Amino acid sequence: MARHSGRGWYGRMVAAAVGVTAVAAATSVWTAQAGQSSGGTARHGAAAQPAAPQQQKEKVAAVSPVIAHASDGGAHAVNITIDDGPDPVWTPQVLQVLRDNGVKATFCMIGPQAQSHPDLVRQVVAAGHRLCDHTVSHDTTMDKKSEAYQSQQILDAERQITQASGGVQPLYYRAPGGAFTPYSRTLAASHGMRPLGWNVDSKDFERPGTDAIVATVKRELANGPTILFHDAGGDRSQTVAALRSLLPWLKQQGYTFGFPVR
Ligand SMILES: [Zn+2]
Repeated sequence: MARHSGRGWYGRMVAAAVGVTAVAAATSVWTAQAGQSSGGTARHGAAAQPAAPQQQKEKVAAVSPVIAHASDGGAHAVNITIDDGPDPVWTPQVLQVLRDNGVKATFCMIGPQAQSHPDLVRQVVAAGHRLCDHTVSHDTTMDKKSEAYQSQQILDAERQITQASGGVQPLYYRAPGGAFTPYSRTLAASHGMRPLGWNVDSKDFERPGTDAIVATVKRELANGPTILFHDAGGDRSQTVAALRSLLPWLKQQGYTFGFPVR
């Protein structure tokens, strides 16, 4: 399901980021109150009409369209990111490991899966984790597709995730397989979702064994703070076990846990 080909992606994302000239256009959005019953999208563009009576105007900080890697937790923090869920088998287990270690993470969700498991989305939010838009179809070639397709993939998933969560919006956008485009980054940023990259691919998706996942993360940690794991797309028991080992180890090494910068 995922496409992970190592450093090449990172280089490509950096190259894409360097090409950015646009600044995030969004300066304000309309935010609906959680639990609104309209069923519509909880947020509209800056040009949207004034909010309906049941909605509440809320200023949301503009975000940059440059792909984020840094942590808001400072120089010795890491960002745990969990992709491709939610999944009824694996997401609860990942949540349990995070809870046991007092760690907050960022969950990059697939829109229709969020729609199918709103209980899990709400558990993620209730535990203090953050949401990230990981599109509708997880198309790792979406950087080769039309702008209309990219828009549909990003904005439909944003709406599905926000509805499932009860009105809590995704704060990030992570392209499947890192298939960002300047267009998709700018679009996501204009909707308040910071494009999100990664520095350390745990390679958990390939199921190399728990020890190998742990070793990969320890070895690659010098690359940067944002670490990629998965809670769906197959048997993720190795991921759960690796997190159970890695989170205490990271603490022992003096790391703290943050969220990706916005
Ligand atoms: Zn993915």
